[in-house]
Amino acid sequence: VTAAIIDGKAVAAELRARVAQAASQLLGQPTLAVVIVGDDPASHVYVRSKVRETEAAGMISRHIVLPADTAQAAVVAQVQALSADPDVDGILVQLPLPAHIDAQAVLDVLDPAKDVDGLTDTSAGRLVSGKAGLRPCTPVGCVLLAKSTGVRLAGKHAVVLGRSILVGRPAALLFLLEDCTVTIAHSKTRDLPGLCRTADILIPAIGRPEFVRGDWVKDGAMVLDVGINRVPAPEKGEGKTRVIGDVAFDEASARAGWISPVPGGVGLMTVACLLRNTVLAACARRGWAVPAGLS
Ligand code: NAP
Repeated sequence: VTAAIIDGKAVAAELRARVAQAASQLLGQPTLAVVIVGDDPASHVYVRSKVRETEAAGMISRHIVLPADTAQAAVVAQVQALSADPDVDGILVQLPLPAHIDAQAVLDVLDPAKDVDGLTDTSAGRLVSGKAGLRPCTPVGCVLLAKSTGVRLAGKHAVVLGRSILVGRPAALLFLLEDCTVTIAHSKTRDLPGLCRTADILIPAIGRPEFVRGDWVKDGAMVLDVGINRVPAPEKGEGKTRVIGDVAFDEASARAGWISPVPGGVGLMTVACLLRNTVLAACARRGWAVPAGLS
């Protein structure tokens, strides 16, 4: 058996096109503000791509860069100002923040109506309650990739590896809202391989390269690999690296029915879902109808 590859590039491109089309039909341009604190190179790469894609989708981007030694009070004040600014529809605070800043204190002053990352307590509560709200982008990307296969999700056993606030927990809740039967596994879970073999949909989000082996995968299962791990790649030259997932891709492909690669899978969905959330937030705040194709 060789798994069908879930083409994150194609699904994300199609979603970005739908977002751009939706944004063009609105009465005004949505604005996304991205706040980054410090010099972490990977975070700056992510933020630049968010800024670029926001503008490519026909929306306004505000890129706010604060030095690494910015006091917590100043970051809080910046987010408070953006929350109060009527022209701003979405606010994203790039994580992780420098160690001296309490991320929760920053999220606590972020207007939930503009919480395009879905990380405030209000957004999390609405997700737990199954109420409408802004959902975390990467987990939404997983659901959209799963749906792109055409496989019926209701009744499937979804096993999520990882229970972080950013990925694992919201992914589990979103698959529950799709009527999956959901199990959340973590570092204290017993017999992970045995549990994973019961999964119709396996969603590893732990951050350990190729941790999930082929014989953990049930024949025909869907595997959505969230992991992004940078590892040495001496074959590409000295000091070079490459990105791999939490799944041993070749082994798992021989068992799975569907598999999302890394790179080229879930990671590409995250920014597309951020753009989608920005349009949804703008519509909800400004009383605009959500354009067809985006709800
Ligand atoms: P995290 O906050 O470090 O959480 C990792 C989770 O994995 C924790 O719940 C941890 O369990 C669990 N875990 C760690 N080692 C384990 C083990 N040996 N067995 C079972 N569970 C284990 O990471 P995260 O922010 O959720 O991110 C997870 C991965 O997704 C990372 O590779 C990250 O780079 C990637 N990611 C990708 C995207 C994207 O756009 N595709 C976005 C965000 C994150 P405990 O709770 O018990 O410690």
